[in-house]
Amino acid sequence: MEKIKMNPIVEMDGDEMTRIIWQMIKDELICPFVELNTEYYDLGLKHRDETEDNVTIDAAEATKRLKVAVKCATITPNAQRVEEYGLKKMWKSPNGTIRAALDGTVFRTPIMVSRIKPNVRTWEKPITIARHAYGDVYKATEYRITSPGKAELLFTADDGTQQCETIYDFECGGVLQGQYNKDSSIEAFARSCFEYALSEKQDLWFSTKDTISKQYDQTFKLIFQRIFDEEYKVKFENLGIKYFYTLIDDAVARVIRSRGGFIWALKNYDGDVMSDMVSTAFGSLAMMTSVLVSPFGYFEYEAAHGTVTRHYYRHLKGEETSTNPVATIFAWTGALKKRGELDGNTALCEFASKLEKATLDTVEDGVMTGDLALLAEGDNVRKVTTKGFIDAVRSRLCDGEPL
Ligand code: NAP
Ligand code: MG
Repeated sequence: MEKIKMNPIVEMDGDEMTRIIWQMIKDELICPFVELNTEYYDLGLKHRDETEDNVTIDAAEATKRLKVAVKCATITPNAQRVEEYGLKKMWKSPNGTIRAALDGTVFRTPIMVSRIKPNVRTWEKPITIARHAYGDVYKATEYRITSPGKAELLFTADDGTQQCETIYDFECGGVLQGQYNKDSSIEAFARSCFEYALSEKQDLWFSTKDTISKQYDQTFKLIFQRIFDEEYKVKFENLGIKYFYTLIDDAVARVIRSRGGFIWALKNYDGDVMSDMVSTAFGSLAMMTSVLVSPFGYFEYEAAHGTVTRHYYRHLKGEETSTNPVATIFAWTGALKKRGELDGNTALCEFASKLEKATLDTVEDGVMTGDLALLAEGDNVRKVTTKGFIDAVRSRLCDGEPL
């Protein structure tokens, strides 16, 4: 069989158990079928340390050039990791560095299988959460006050003119907070969301609390609407998808009653909270994919989970682990599909879809890793090791028949 050819994508290798899985996926599920063409960057912690973390910046720059990247989970060092790896420095989170370089928004989507039922019975299709990852309460200034007095919100422009509003005349102690966001960041967020909706051919919902926050949240709403009208309205119409804004309270009710199958964009705090709720309600962190989409149309795919450290330590002791590779497989298929789409490489897109189907069919047949076996409904559940699972997927890919 002739292997499928492709243009290059950026490959960012990572750490611990996911690094092991990464290699297995390439060896068993991709390289036998595709002439895999990647620009390889080793974001494993050791190599980040050796390169003073420049490898992360290089990988982000390469993503701007090649437009598509796939990333393995990586360790974000803390004090314990600095000691464990003898690091020169407590390097920053690679995901933070890449996000800053690409100015992107992260979209998280559950991978659904019929044997694992969402807690919300009506959900038939995945709900993707798009969280704005800049500003608001995450960059707020706040402090407590302990005596009566007047709190004011003061802005001094560069030319010296001032704008001042009383926040509250305190008759007792209390607490104060100042938050901000920037038009440029909100615009980038909006464009990433519209780009992703086009790329997924799904409706985009956006919700804030603009009835209460008449300037702050209203700004988000107006920026989204302006960018939509000016840049995306026609493209959405052509694809038959919709953008719609609604108050967050209304959105929550609609999400719960929905069948899924759309993208829900949220401000930073709302997205933090709602993404945990939605992902938990769908089932398992190991079944959640994540893609960073930049407003300029760069895509970086990964699994939402981390490096699965506890399994890695068992692996190092020579034990076989039952770590779920599904989200990492889907990170690869997401990137291959996007590469294929951008280049009109149908064979590559078809291969990616086939690999996804082989993976899901394996689980549907009852062959799954331990985390899913605990949640699965139905008979004939067979818990397998990581390698056992990948082998089962491979044999389906080869002949379409179960093991
Ligand atoms: P984690 O690696 O996601 O693992 C948390 C727990 O969830 C695991 O111990 C495991 O539970 C379960 N789990 C997660 N993924 C699984 C999978 N594929 N198959 C089976 N079980 C899975 O999160 P963490 O322990 O908080 O973080 C570990 C390291 O990952 C940290 O160094 C952190 O910095 C890094 N991290 C990286 C990323 C990223 O690169 N995107 C994201 C998050 C965390 P059991 O042990 O109970 O089986
Ligand atoms: Mg959270």
